[in-house]
Order: sequence, then structure tokens, then C-alpha cells
Amino acid sequence: MPKVQSTSAKLRQYVEEFSSTVFKTDGKTLFCNICEEAVLSNKRFQVTQHLSTAKHLSNSTRKEKMKQIFIKDSFEDQNSEFSLDLCLAFLASDILLWKLHNTTFNTFLQKYIGKHIPDESTIRKKCVSVLYNEVIDRIRKEIVFLKAPSRVLKFRELFRELPLPPQSIPTRWGTWLEATSYYYADNFNSIKSVLLSLNKNTAKSIKNAIALFENRNIQNDLAYIKSNLGFITESILKLENASLLLYDNLEIVENTKSKLGQNKGPIVEKINKKYKNVLEKNTGLKAMSTTRNILNGQNINEDFLNLTPGEVKKFRYAKITSCDVKRSVSKYKNTLRSNEDRSFLKI
Ligand SMILES: [Zn+2]
Repeated sequence: MPKVQSTSAKLRQYVEEFSSTVFKTDGKTLFCNICEEAVLSNKRFQVTQHLSTAKHLSNSTRKEKMKQIFIKDSFEDQNSEFSLDLCLAFLASDILLWKLHNTTFNTFLQKYIGKHIPDESTIRKKCVSVLYNEVIDRIRKEIVFLKAPSRVLKFRELFRELPLPPQSIPTRWGTWLEATSYYYADNFNSIKSVLLSLNKNTAKSIKNAIALFENRNIQNDLAYIKSNLGFITESILKLENASLLLYDNLEIVENTKSKLGQNKGPIVEKINKKYKNVLEKNTGLKAMSTTRNILNGQNINEDFLNLTPGEVKKFRYAKITSCDVKRSVSKYKNTLRSNEDRSFLKI
């Protein structure tokens, strides 16, 4: 017998699915926080329909604007705009806020700007988070699907089974390659049709994305990347596995080298050359390879490792990759830079 879901469970699920900032429920009705009214919710499509009504969309925009005005007005300080601008200027140019304590610098600013220079701690408390949130909001609006419920809904309507586009992270190995060769290459036409179904005049990001998807070179490049370089993603994933033997790890590196050597085209040739150069210059990798040979019972005459047999044994499961991601890099610094050198993915 099929399991019948209770009304309250169904409503809670909608709240979870479409965000608790949009909906809330008392277990009997579904209430839209944006429109401040109850929403028909017997069927799921009624909920999605509500989200795409002109009324809901315009209420969303209005609420967002009100929020921004409220943030700005909440400064009691009359100099709030000046403080915000000063803070932005400091952060965007990598000047640390505590430099405001420097008497010479502070006097110079007061003398020529003719305004009271707020204290560093005041700026830190009041301005940094406001600026940070403003930038984050702006970035979110530039992203096609992320945090845009109406577009996500459209995507879901057309391709219920297809996962949303992945977010690539520059500091995570291979996520770009994975997104191109496993997601965009395989689902090119589906993503394109979702984009074409959106109104390209509502956001610059949609317009740009459509232009890219209509560019034949992009399609050809994706095919090239998938067929010649896609396997690198698998190699990277395998190398991330902590339980592999040193022997297996080195084998992955060597297999990658030979596969790159077999593939054709000027781009792969360049990558292959670079890969070989990097490996050849890496003395640590040579030492690991010698260690592997000793562990495999091959008699190595060179004694350059200078390790005791007990120490060599400890390398049995040695990892040969080191990718220490500097996650602690100031997110503010990255966010508040000028647009040219900022990518939303760096945050
Ligand atoms: Zn609504």
C-alpha cells in the first residue's frame, strides 16, 4: 500500500524545499512570508505556481529593496555613508583598518577630508558586515541559477531528474574539469533549453549564459575536453583516496602521463609537456618512486634516501599529493576587491 504523507509533513517539506524565508506553516496551511498570505498547497504545482506569479515576484523584489534601505538607515551615526565609503576604500585596496590608529595618517585624513574619522573598532563593527552582505547579494544576483527560486523552479519543471549545475571551486582540484566534462558536456542541450526558456532581459547573467550556449566553439571545446581530458578528474579523485598504497598512487600518476601522451591535439600536447616537466623537476616524487621500488623488493643500490628500513616501511601508504587549501584567506579581502580580479567563487 503506498504510504500516505500527512498534510503537515507535506507542508513542512515545502517549507524545507522552497526555503523558510519564503514559506512557513502551522501544520494546516502554507503561508507565504513574502506576500503575507496563505497559499493553496493541496498539490505541489499550486505552490510552484504561486512562486512564479507576478505578484509574488514583485513582492520579492520590494522586500529585498526594503531590506537594503533598512540596513542603511539602521546607522544612527550621521557619518554612516562616509564610514561605509571609507571602509570600502580601505578593504578594496588591502589597507588594514588598524592603520587608522596611525596618528600621522589619521591627522592627514582629517585635515584634507575635513570630516571626523571614525574609530577603527566602529568601522569594523558597523561597516564591514554591511559591505560584505551587499557584495554577496550583488554576486548572488549575477548567478544564473543559484539562489534564484523562479529559475530553479523552471529547471525542475523541465528536467526533474537532472541535478542543478554544479558549483566549481577553484581551490578544489578538478571541480572545473568535472563540471565541464561530466555535467555540461553530457547535459548541454538540457541546460540550453532551460536557459532559452528564461527571459533573457531579466538578468545579464542569463543573456551571457545563452550567448555562450549558442556559441558553437563552446560545444566543440566541451567535446574536446571530455574526450581528451575528462579522465584527469578520475585520476584526481583516486589520488584523494587516503587508503591507497604508495604503489597505487604512483601508478595513477604514471597512467595519467601515458594517457595524456596518447591523446591528440595542440592543447593536450601542451598539457602533456607541462605535466612531464613538472614531474621531472619534482625530486620528492623521485624519492617516493625509489621508496616504492624498495618496498616492492627491487634492489636499489643508491642510498640517497638516508632512511632506516623501519622508516621506509612507513611509506607504504604514503600520499603523494599535497594540496593545502588556504581556506583561511580573508574572505572580506577577496570579496571587496574590484570586479576585475574578483570571482564569486573565491569567497
Ligand atoms: Zn508569495
